[in-house]
Amino acid sequence: MKMFRPEFVDEFQCIAERCSYTCCSGWDVIIDCDTYNNNKQLYEDIERDCFFDAEDGEHFIKMREKAVCPFLNEKGLCKIVMEHGEDALSHTCKIFPRMIMGSYDEVLEYSVDNGCPAVLDLLRRFQTPIKFNLDAPNDDEIVDFKYSDEKVEHLIYRNQMIDLLQIPNMPLWARLYLIYDFSTQLENFNHPEILQKYNDVQWLNDKCSQLSFVNADFGTKFMLYRMLFDLYYKYENQGYDMYIVKLKEFCNGLCADDLLPDWKEFEKIWEKESGFIENFCVNSVFVQSLDGEPQKNILILLFEVIQMRFVLFLWWLYCGKTLSDTDMLNIVCYYARAAGHGRGKIYQWLNMNRDYDIMKKGAVLVMLK
Ligand code: SF4
Repeated sequence: MKMFRPEFVDEFQCIAERCSYTCCSGWDVIIDCDTYNNNKQLYEDIERDCFFDAEDGEHFIKMREKAVCPFLNEKGLCKIVMEHGEDALSHTCKIFPRMIMGSYDEVLEYSVDNGCPAVLDLLRRFQTPIKFNLDAPNDDEIVDFKYSDEKVEHLIYRNQMIDLLQIPNMPLWARLYLIYDFSTQLENFNHPEILQKYNDVQWLNDKCSQLSFVNADFGTKFMLYRMLFDLYYKYENQGYDMYIVKLKEFCNGLCADDLLPDWKEFEKIWEKESGFIENFCVNSVFVQSLDGEPQKNILILLFEVIQMRFVLFLWWLYCGKTLSDTDMLNIVCYYARAAGHGRGKIYQWLNMNRDYDIMKKGAVLVMLK
């Protein structure tokens, strides 16, 4: 068995007490049956109401206010580990942020989750395009399970999306829009024809030139960003984030007419981070695109990127036009976690808001640019 993973994965190291998050904050943490029964028994008298069951019968840890795990002590350390050792943890808690995705033809796919500041730091430091390694695994926690036939069928489309994201010398907004366009076409048209088209360099360059003519004035762009930010805040602000709550109030006092010069200045910072965002998207597509719902997954990814861009702009402005590396990674981490823990909910919400045109193709293109 060989292991296929993005090259940066081998350099992952938890930053422990320097991390602004705990591994579990903000997620609904799934736990396997044995750990569920064991933990229930161990903490029966102390912790009540710590679990819930999803409709399909899977067990989850029930987060407390501000999305904090009930098993954390006042110092933010995990009581389960401290009192009963690592073996008492669920598989998810034990391996996070590592993600064992599954295998086919003696190849096991494996990565790490974007919802961890240490992973984001690596994605930011690694050169584009990220390469993938294939060799024998050397990790005791790796348990093999086979991809379904449907997942194996989707490998070719996922790999195509990674290739599109890594096209050299094409602006990031165009590559992101191309994967969105590709994912929507997969749902409606003949797949071999689409693959052929999206492999044709001339066709891709022509498409990029056509798209470069579509734009909107800054006022419209700001209105779209703001609407997306406000609506999502109302829908699911979990209150555990130190940035978003402050920015909601800050944003209320802003007027688009005064912000164009600031936006232009910030665009240079965003442009400098395009390699980081490319790597973030490549890892997300690698991990999240095999469930047979490409359009849903890409729409969620674009939602993350668009929100991050706007919130980073707001935070940069709020801090007097400075943006520390830690703040940048934390903000990106917040959205990676929001999109990671509630994919179904976010998609449902995005679909509800289609009436407002916020995530329709034209608006997405404008907000990516
Ligand atoms: S989120 Fe990442 S860096 Fe933070 S404690 Fe967990 S593994 Fe370590």
